Amino acid sequence: MELWFTEKQTPNVGITCKITKTLHTETTPFQELAVIETLQFGRMLVLDGMVQTTIADEFVYHEMIAHVALNTHPNPEKVMVIGGGDGGTIREIVKHPKVKKAVLVEIDERVIEVSKQYLPEIAAALMGNPKVEVRVEDGIKHVKEHKGEYDVIIIDSTEPVGPAVELFSEDFYKNVYESLKEDGIMVAQTESPFFNRDIIKNSFTRIGKNFPITRLYFATVPTYPSGVWTFTLGSKKFDPLAVKKEDIFVDPSNKYYNAEVHFGAFMLPNFIAEIIK
Ligand code: SAM
Repeated sequence: MELWFTEKQTPNVGITCKITKTLHTETTPFQELAVIETLQFGRMLVLDGMVQTTIADEFVYHEMIAHVALNTHPNPEKVMVIGGGDGGTIREIVKHPKVKKAVLVEIDERVIEVSKQYLPEIAAALMGNPKVEVRVEDGIKHVKEHKGEYDVIIIDSTEPVGPAVELFSEDFYKNVYESLKEDGIMVAQTESPFFNRDIIKNSFTRIGKNFPITRLYFATVPTYPSGVWTFTLGSKKFDPLAVKKEDIFVDPSNKYYNAEVHFGAFMLPNFIAEIIK
C-alpha cells in the first residue's frame, strides 16, 4: 500500500508527498510534532500538519534567512534566532566568521530534541558548538527582557498560528527593535506572495513603523506553500542594497546564497512589489 502525506496549505491547495515511513510523532505542550521520510525530499519536519523543513530544500530557507542580514551588518557579533528549533538557521549563523555568539530562543524543547535525533545534518550546531547558546523560552518574553543586546535578530517562526501569532504583531516588532543595539538588523520569514499577501503587507507595514530601512526579498522553497517565500528585513542603519559586493562573505558550503543572490533577491517581480506599495 502506498503512503502519502498531504499538507493543506490553504482551503483549496495542498502539497502531497509519497512517504516511506513515519519516524516520529508526538503531541508536545505546544503542537503536534512529526518527522516523516518522504521519497522526494528526504526526512521532513512537520508541525501541526505544516511542513517546516526537509533535507532536500532546507538550505534555501536557512541560508537566505541568515546570510542576507549577517552580510548587511558590518560586525554581527551577537545574533539571536527566535523559533528555529530545528537548528538550520543557527548552523548558517555560526559559519559567519564575525559571529561570536548565536543564541537560539525556541519555545518548544521537543522540536530541538527531535531535530537533533532525526535531522542531525540540520541540527548539528545545536550539539556542542561553543558559540551557540540554546534557551527554551518564549521569544516574545525574551525580547521584552533583553534591551540593546543583539546585532542581528532572526525570526524563524512557524506560520502565524498558536504560539507564533504574536511574532507577527506590531508590539513584538517594537520589542525586537529595542532588543537590538543602535545599529541592529532584524529579519523575519513572512510567508508566500501568492497565498499570504495580507501577512506580507501587514508585517512590512509594522516593521516599517519601527525601522527606517525596511526591505522585502524572496527565495524559492519547493515545499513551502506556492514555492515562493518572502523575508522582511528591518534595519536601523545599514541598507542591504548598499553593501559592497567584495565584502560579502560566502561560505564555500553555501548552495544558494552568494554575492549576486544577495542583491538579486531584492529585485521584486511586479506582483510582489505591489503588495508593499
Ligand atoms: N522554517 C520554518 C517554516 O517557516 O516553516 C520554521 C521552522 S522552526 C521549526 C519554527 C519554530 O518556531 C517552531 O519550532 C516553534 O516551536 C517556534 N516558535 C513558535 N512560537 C514561538 C515563540 N513565541 N517563541 C519561540 N519560538 C517559537
